Amino acid sequence: SYETLAGRTAVITGAASGMGAATAGLLAAQGVRVALLARRAERLEEVAAKIVSEGGEALVVVTDVTDQASVDTAAERVHTAYGRADLVVNAAGVMLPNPVDEGRTDEWQRMLDTNVSGALRIIRAFTPDLVAAAADGRTADLVNISSIGAHVTFPHYAVYGATKAALSHLSASLRTEFGPRDVRVTNIEPGLTDTELAGHIDNAELSSQLDGMFDALGALSGDDIADLIAYTTSRPRHVNLRQLIVLPTRQA
Ligand code: NDP
Repeated sequence: SYETLAGRTAVITGAASGMGAATAGLLAAQGVRVALLARRAERLEEVAAKIVSEGGEALVVVTDVTDQASVDTAAERVHTAYGRADLVVNAAGVMLPNPVDEGRTDEWQRMLDTNVSGALRIIRAFTPDLVAAAADGRTADLVNISSIGAHVTFPHYAVYGATKAALSHLSASLRTEFGPRDVRVTNIEPGLTDTELAGHIDNAELSSQLDGMFDALGALSGDDIADLIAYTTSRPRHVNLRQLIVLPTRQA
């Protein structure tokens, strides 16, 4: 169990599905109040209803992290309902692979704007909370979900990989700013994980290639990632697991 989590307040992006939804469920079960951020209201309501039916506390905050005004409104709503956040998880992300010479600037922009700028907007909105919580002697965590794609190269995933390399670098750099103020920064780099992420690929060949990898290698689940996040955020506050690479065992 993760006893030290009870009473904390989390903001989780990408909470409508996959890793974000699983993390919200697990943290809420440990007594964390969770603000659920993503674009799909109905899916967020389902996640919240399940949490509440199990005795937890959840707040639905429909948010598009690519839209600064939407993030500003989300921050206001979270602060009004819950006050200061002390645990922030950037799980919102999109993966839209295609050959780079197709020049799909729409996909590039969506990935950059969600995976990098979106995380930055959330960091801007909520890290003052983390710094203030830590100054009060409380545990404060920023958790970014990057990807093993930050390290490995793979044809047609150049832009996605670049967004994740940027996020991993951002996490490492932010530790130098926040660590001295007792705010932990944890960067998680998962391998294949069974979520909705691959469902947005519009290239049939790349979809079936990825299906083949799932069949051959198996996959982590959103719950596996939630477990890691609950683990790292429940360590004593002087312990910062800064970088976690986690792969399905068969993924070499
Ligand atoms: P999902 O697609 O299930 O989750 C992504 C979440 O992000 C959704 O809940 C989606 O909700 C939300 N989201 C997307 N765009 C926006 C936006 N503009 N504003 C707010 N929320 C948004 O996939 P995963 O759980 O797998 O993805 C979580 C993170 O893990 C991503 O950053 C992904 O890149 C990363 N990752 C995934 C791996 C995998 O194999 N699945 C491996 C390594 C890393 P909505 O559409 O309602 O906004």
